[in-house]
Amino acid sequence: MTATNRMALGAEQSDALANVQTGLLIGGWRTVLEKLPVENPATGKVIAEVADGTADDGVEALDAAVRAQRGWAATTARYRADVLHHLYAAVIESREELALLITTEMGKPLAEARGEVDYAADYVRWYAEEAVRLDGRSLTTPNGRSEVVTYRGPVGPCLLITPWNFPLAMGLRKVAPALAAGCTVVWKPADLTPLTALRAASLMLEAGVPEGVVNVVTTTDAASFSATVMADPRLRKVSFTGSTPVGRRLLAQASEGVLKSSMELGGNAPLLVLEDADVDRAVEGAFVAKLRNGGQSCVAANRMYVHEKVADAFVEAFAARVARVAFGNGMDAATDLGPLIDGRAVDKVAGLVTDAVARGAKVLAGGVVPDGPGYFYPATVLDHVAPGSRLLGEEIFGPVAPIVRFQDEGEAILHANATPFGLAAYLFTENGDRARRVAAALDAGMVGVNQGAISDASVPFGGVKQSGLGREGGAEGIEDYTELKFVSTPSVR
Ligand code: NAD
Repeated sequence: MTATNRMALGAEQSDALANVQTGLLIGGWRTVLEKLPVENPATGKVIAEVADGTADDGVEALDAAVRAQRGWAATTARYRADVLHHLYAAVIESREELALLITTEMGKPLAEARGEVDYAADYVRWYAEEAVRLDGRSLTTPNGRSEVVTYRGPVGPCLLITPWNFPLAMGLRKVAPALAAGCTVVWKPADLTPLTALRAASLMLEAGVPEGVVNVVTTTDAASFSATVMADPRLRKVSFTGSTPVGRRLLAQASEGVLKSSMELGGNAPLLVLEDADVDRAVEGAFVAKLRNGGQSCVAANRMYVHEKVADAFVEAFAARVARVAFGNGMDAATDLGPLIDGRAVDKVAGLVTDAVARGAKVLAGGVVPDGPGYFYPATVLDHVAPGSRLLGEEIFGPVAPIVRFQDEGEAILHANATPFGLAAYLFTENGDRARRVAAALDAGMVGVNQGAISDASVPFGGVKQSGLGREGGAEGIEDYTELKFVSTPSVR
């Protein structure tokens, strides 16, 4: 970190940065010569450098994971649960420090970053609790000949690849169930946000995770790193959270070795406000579903379909609410909305808005890229968005709310489902029967009714169609890290 850039940070941010191990965690910590610069998106300045690992480092990390696998799998479930409980306590104790790192390298307002730490820690606590409940079952075959017992064992060494938008939560949501199940891991965090992951790795060691059980490699060469590690037959699973195009590529690579794969991919969540919605509730829910994490969330409401009967009231109140959103550096207590992750993201969002406006959309709030420094885009509402506008078909990943008006519930459901994605969907209505009917008709892995925030460690998060394979969270989430085996013996009954 240069002296000038350090001065651009507050004392607390500098202290948090100074606590980060910037090497690779392969068995133990090691330093490498190649460095990867980390920017603060609120200023566009490089604020730290961490190790830039290679594909060879990936193989060495897998060596370490393979060496540790047998010993870790042999620990008792209670032992692994205790380690995870220690990790939960360590994460909560380090809430402020982790939140500062998240805000500094990813940009979200500090209050949201604290929320991410709590959310991430919850997965650790949840899987500490689930570790001791990983049971099999027993049965007698219907022909009466055999008695069968099923067992769930750890799948083995796993590669975990995570995105930048929730640098802590997306990592712990994978590491915790993997450790609980008895798997060792190689974790490759996003190169845009490595600091939080590295600090979390130190906390894991402090909590009692043995060396080699969790290995962390930061790298700018994600493609060859992953391809090399995935081609190694000792790897038994890949779990990826990120964009659908990269997920597709990884699935193709995984097919070579028939590698067990979990994919948490992109979304294009529709949000439906039906004619009998409580407009205030819908405005509040839509605000959260759209603007949490600055819209940089896979479950962010990407398209809003609002019934003509309530559209004027909804649009007026929603636009007024959004117009009050203050963007700025996430360290500033007055900031509601931080920067986007980088300049490319600003260009992408601005391009989508320009396209929608050229096709007739009306800008009710935001819509203009501010001067720098930093990668900001204001909270934006677009009304009367025309069919065919690019932002209805693509993941916006920014604070832009496109509104489309509709007259008929069936028509709204057709629009909502007209996408290759199927992660989340939101629905606002005061009619319970209708809520269940429409929720059932929506092609999505998760549906929020009259609420805009639906994720929790206790629920099976995941998508249908091209939004992914597998689930994270809930009792289901640990199963992705296990293999099921049965042992059959002649019946003695
Ligand atoms: P991304 O696909 O660009 O990157 C995700 C991770 O993959 C990063 O670690 C990156 O370094 C790595 N990567 C990039 N190219 C790779 C390659 N060729 N081979 C192997 N690894 C590679 O996604 P992103 O921009 O970091 O994150 C945003 C995307 O993630 C959005 O599409 C969002 O919807 C999705 N996401 C999904 C979920 C979910 O649970 N479904 C959660 C968060 C984010």
